[in-house]
Amino acid sequence: MKCPALASLCAALLLPALVSPLAAQAADEIREQDLRAHIGFLACSEMEGRASGEHGGHLSGRYVEATFRRLGLTPLPGQTELRLPFQVGDLTCYNVVGVLRGTDPRLSERYLAIGGHLDHAGIGGPGAMGGPGEVHNGADDNASGTAGVLELAEWYVAHPPKHSIIFISAEERGLLGSEHLVTQKIVPVDQIRAMFNFDMIGRSNGYLFIGGLGTATEFHDLLDPILAGTQDMRLELDDRGEAPSDNTSFYHGGIPSLFFFTHIHEDYHLPGDDAEKIDYAGEARILRLAREMIGVVDAAPSIQFKSAPGMGMPADFNEKMMAHFQNIQKLQRARGKLGLRVEEAAGGMVVTSVGEGSSAADAGLLVDDLVKKINGREIHTQRDLLRALGAAEKGSEVTLQIERAGGPLTLKAPLK
Ligand SMILES: [Zn+2]
Repeated sequence: MKCPALASLCAALLLPALVSPLAAQAADEIREQDLRAHIGFLACSEMEGRASGEHGGHLSGRYVEATFRRLGLTPLPGQTELRLPFQVGDLTCYNVVGVLRGTDPRLSERYLAIGGHLDHAGIGGPGAMGGPGEVHNGADDNASGTAGVLELAEWYVAHPPKHSIIFISAEERGLLGSEHLVTQKIVPVDQIRAMFNFDMIGRSNGYLFIGGLGTATEFHDLLDPILAGTQDMRLELDDRGEAPSDNTSFYHGGIPSLFFFTHIHEDYHLPGDDAEKIDYAGEARILRLAREMIGVVDAAPSIQFKSAPGMGMPADFNEKMMAHFQNIQKLQRARGKLGLRVEEAAGGMVVTSVGEGSSAADAGLLVDDLVKKINGREIHTQRDLLRALGAAEKGSEVTLQIERAGGPLTLKAPLK
């Protein structure tokens, strides 16, 4: 999704003092338009796919931090900041974690955790399945879950729970963010009674998977009545505690953990995972159900962890994933190549070699030509080049604006 006025929008949204015009009336309800605003911002192309440790990832982390701060969430015990850094090799990544104090003085040192990862596949980053230069907006994965965490935080601030709640926007990247929080005991692991993880809850269309129902002795007694009463959604329920998502880190830390997921789809980890394809009414419905579930857990006298090993995922997950991979291979075979090598130079990129029989050769491109624009896009870096070509298919025409011997020249050829 494109956001033309983003530079100023970013500045405005990142001002901690700014109060969202939606906030005043939104506090008592989970609202579709709030979800739209959060997901629209987090999944627009200027966030560059929110790759963890990179510019867009940091910017979106700042957005979550500013929202947490506006809601009055405080740092974890022992921390002074909401944004908590950790290293992945040379990269500094951040989890954003804020606490809402509970109302019951006997329980306020006991926590519930509500989380969802923030990062996505960037521009050809980890997990990207699209073309190397394409932005992977990750509206469903996982701007949807992040928006859910923000909406629930807003609701609980207006309706304080008995337990304190830890709101988590983690870096998923191999589950490293949540693993760091749990194994390094950045979160008070022994005092967290239950964790609720939202990872891809934006493509419901009437469906919801909930995993981890066997990870607490009391979950079935507490939650089955609510789930049985949910007639307007096709629920798929699973007891097992593991999944390729952050609930696994908490489950392995001995914390009862639930996983909310609306399944993969044709845009999974592809550039088409965009905000306009989100089922906002469906997501709001899921968050209302989750709120009901969190409410009974908050009111329960005790919650005991129970081991429930194994992957708690939809029954047809592997089958759907295989079909998705086959589809991606088909897309990759259809993608066109220009067939040239370039180096950065003043005013553009200079051609260092042209592949024999390539579309660059057909267009008449020569070594030492200075490429200034491709398909109207200015070219200064390899990334610009990749983005200019994007996922262009074989046979689509590419237009190169170049400079040769000091003069401008426009060349055209179909991609091969
Ligand atoms: Zn995800």
